[in-house]
Amino acid sequence: MDTTVLNILACPACNAPLEPQENGRGLLCHRCGLVFPVIDGIPVLLIDEATPIREGGR
Ligand SMILES: [Zn+2]
Repeated sequence: MDTTVLNILACPACNAPLEPQENGRGLLCHRCGLVFPVIDGIPVLLIDEATPIREGGR
């Protein structure tokens, strides 16, 4: 996967830089606590498609 592209993507909600997840299947916004999916290598930067991260688990 080309992480160079992912590194310049910004969160559609707050414009913070997105961090690629280790599994390459999501982009994390630390500020929003949302993970945007990456489907077939294409980031889906839609807030409706994002899922909240599980911080610390529960
Ligand atoms: Zn954000």
